[in-house]
Amino acid sequence: MRRGTNLLAVGGFNQAVVLDLIRRAPDGLSRVELARASGLSPQTIGNVVRRLLDDEVVLETGKQVNGRGKPRTILRLDPRGGYAIGVHLDPALISFVLTDLDGAVVARRIHRTPVAVSPTQVLDAIEQAIESLLAEASATLEVPRERVLGVGIAAPGPIDRERGVVDDPPLLRGWSEVPLRDDLARRLGMPVVLEKDVTAAAAAELWGQTGHDGDDFAFFYYGSGVGLGIVLDHAVVRGASANPGDIGHTIVRDSSEGGVPCGCGRTGCLGEQTSPLRLVQRAAGGKRDSGGAAAAGGAEPLGAAPAGPALDDPRELFDSFGALADRAEAGEPVAVALIEALADDVATALVRFADLLDVDRIVCGGPFWQPVERLLLERVERAVRTSPALVTPHPVRIVSSAAGADVTAVGAACQVLDALYSPRPANLLLAAQA
Ligand SMILES: [Zn+2]
Repeated sequence: MRRGTNLLAVGGFNQAVVLDLIRRAPDGLSRVELARASGLSPQTIGNVVRRLLDDEVVLETGKQVNGRGKPRTILRLDPRGGYAIGVHLDPALISFVLTDLDGAVVARRIHRTPVAVSPTQVLDAIEQAIESLLAEASATLEVPRERVLGVGIAAPGPIDRERGVVDDPPLLRGWSEVPLRDDLARRLGMPVVLEKDVTAAAAAELWGQTGHDGDDFAFFYYGSGVGLGIVLDHAVVRGASANPGDIGHTIVRDSSEGGVPCGCGRTGCLGEQTSPLRLVQRAAGGKRDSGGAAAAGGAEPLGAAPAGPALDDPRELFDSFGALADRAEAGEPVAVALIEALADDVATALVRFADLLDVDRIVCGGPFWQPVERLLLERVERAVRTSPALVTPHPVRIVSSAAGADVTAVGAACQVLDALYSPRPANLLLAAQA
C-alpha cells in the first residue's frame, strides 16, 4: 500500500489546512493553537492530527507549559515524512531534484537533453533518470519509494495543464500534443503534475519565501525563451489556460537603436533581442570581424549568414553561451557590448512589467540567467532604478533567485507538495486525477 501517495489524494481539505499551518510554524504548534488558527473544532483537529501522526508526516516534539494549565504537546512537520520529485525539461538540459516534505533538495542530478530523438525516447530517458534517482535515494538516503508523493514536471509552454499535454514548444522539435503527464504517471506508477516552466520557477520562489518578503513579485525567466512568472496576493497567477507570462514579443528596441527583426514581423522584440542563439551567433560573427562591425544590438546586416552554432543542438548553444559570458568577463569588447545590450533590453522590459504589475521585487533566474548573472544583475538593477519610464512610487528590487540553478525543478516538485498542503480544492482534484 502506497501510504504517501494515498495521503496526497485522500487527505482532504481539513488536513491540508492543518498541515499547512504546521509547516509554516518553525517552532511547532499545539492542538489548541491549531484549533484557534484553523477555526476547526478540537475534535476535528484531534482526528486530523492522529492521521498525520499515523502517517509519520508530523512529529510530537516536547511539551509547552502555559501557566497553570495542562502542558501542551507541540507538533512539528517531519520533513522525512514524504518526498517529491521535480523535473525541469529544458531543450538543453533536464534537471531532476528530490525534495523532502519541507521543499529542501536532498538529491539532484542533471542530464543533457537527448537531441534529434522522438518524445518517447526523451520520456525513456526521464523515466530511467527518475528510477535511478529513486534507487539511489533508497540506498543512500533511506528514502523508500512509497514515501515519494509524486512527480512535478516543468516544461516549456504552451502546455495544456488540465490534460497534462505539452504542445509544440519552440526548440523541442516534434513535441506536438505529447501527453507527458499521463505517459510518465503510467510508467512510474505515481501521480504526475505538469506545469509551465516560468510558473514553476515562480512557485519555487514563493515556496522558499519566509516571513513577509512581499506577497507580490514577478519572476523573469531566461531560458531558451523568455517568460514572466507572476505572483500576486501570495498566489501564482495561472491565467485562463495556465500559460501566462509570454513576454517574448514585448518591443524593447526600435530599428534605429539596433532592434532586430522578429518572426512576428516587427522589430526589437524582447525574445529575439535576448535570444541566446542570436547572441552567440553575433559573438562568433563579431569575433571574425575583429570586433568592429558587430556593435552590440547593432542591426543584423542584411543577407549576412549567421555565424556560430546552429539550432540543431541546444546543448552546444548552452556551452557557447557560457563561453560568451566568459569572454565578456575577460573584457573582450564585442562580448561586453553584447552583454551590455542584453542587460539594457532586459531592464527596459522589466520596467514595463514593474509599472504594469506594481511589484516591488523582480526575481531573475532560469538556465541562461545563471551564466550571465554576475555580468547582468548590477547593470539591470541600475538601469531599472534610473529609468525615466519607471513610474511606481516605490523602489523595485532586482534579485537573483535564491534557489539558483535548481529553481525550476524545485518549483515542479513544489507543485506536488502544494497539492498536499494547499487547501485549494482545484489542487487536490488535480492530484487525485493524476
Ligand atoms: Zn516579435
